[in-house]
Amino acid sequence: MAPGGSACKEVLESYSTDYDVAMAKLDNNSTPTRATTGSGGKQGIYSTNGVHELLECPVCTCLMYPPIHQCPNGHTLCSNCKIRVLNCCPTCRYDLGNIRCLALEKVAESLELPCTYQSLGCNDIFPYYSKLKHEQHCRFRPYNCPYAGSECSVTGDIPTLVAHLKDDHKVDMHDGCTFNHRYVKSNPHEVENATWMLTVFNCFGRQFCLHFEAFQLGMAPVYMAFLRFMGDENEAKKFSYSLEVGANGRKLIWQGIPRSIRDSHKKVRDSQDGLIIQRNLALYFSGAEREELKLRVTGRIWKEE
Ligand SMILES: [Zn+2]
Ligand SMILES: [Zn+2]
Ligand SMILES: [Zn+2]
Ligand SMILES: [Zn+2]
Repeated sequence: MAPGGSACKEVLESYSTDYDVAMAKLDNNSTPTRATTGSGGKQGIYSTNGVHELLECPVCTCLMYPPIHQCPNGHTLCSNCKIRVLNCCPTCRYDLGNIRCLALEKVAESLELPCTYQSLGCNDIFPYYSKLKHEQHCRFRPYNCPYAGSECSVTGDIPTLVAHLKDDHKVDMHDGCTFNHRYVKSNPHEVENATWMLTVFNCFGRQFCLHFEAFQLGMAPVYMAFLRFMGDENEAKKFSYSLEVGANGRKLIWQGIPRSIRDSHKKVRDSQDGLIIQRNLALYFSGAEREELKLRVTGRIWKEE
């Protein structure tokens, strides 16, 4: 921990040179006016951490953003927690009133902090108030588990999620860019909403999730198959895929671009970005009895040049 006095001194100095520092960063030159670089980068980072802690809400430990509140005794609190504690200071129990801590808001403005996902590979540094916005779109931010059957709260990078799908969801893994998959369900007429086991394909050194679901599209019961790419959208766009389902000389063909798993399976489903099969047709494709769903979906993934 930096002693309070020195942390405070560093704050004032870095605040007074805020714009110089920002300018200096742009052209990548060190500048003699930057106070915190005087005795080496380490100390600058160290004192920033001290201020960083001042900006942590004592209740939820999140970084505070304007309006930052304080009680008459100077204890600070984020605006979400102010509501949660019913306006009673959690430190001294005084009524919080409606006092803003403009000084701390100003200090925050002068800070530059590394992206939260630094440990995942992001080396960018941001002014305090643009950090959150960056993090919402940071390409290193963790992905949500793409498994659709249940709400799963696991997040991580792609290798972590591939291992998680295999180990925890017992998902089928296939190598290769063509596939031939059977979806079976007895009593399909009773099913309004269903999700089949996810299948993961390994090809071009990347992973793709094949989803198959039953749901109501307006009044019509339908099945839908679609592919999601385990990576960001700009990479997903480099691939295409096709799906086919049919029988008795008829078939439906879908060609599309896999969606990034940044888009939830529900979002993709609701946008109908995949092969949609009306239930009647699906049962027709399933065979003569129409009692059981027995669909064979074939497909292929390729890379666009
Ligand atoms: Zn809080
Ligand atoms: Zn207080
Ligand atoms: Zn980042
Ligand atoms: Zn999961």
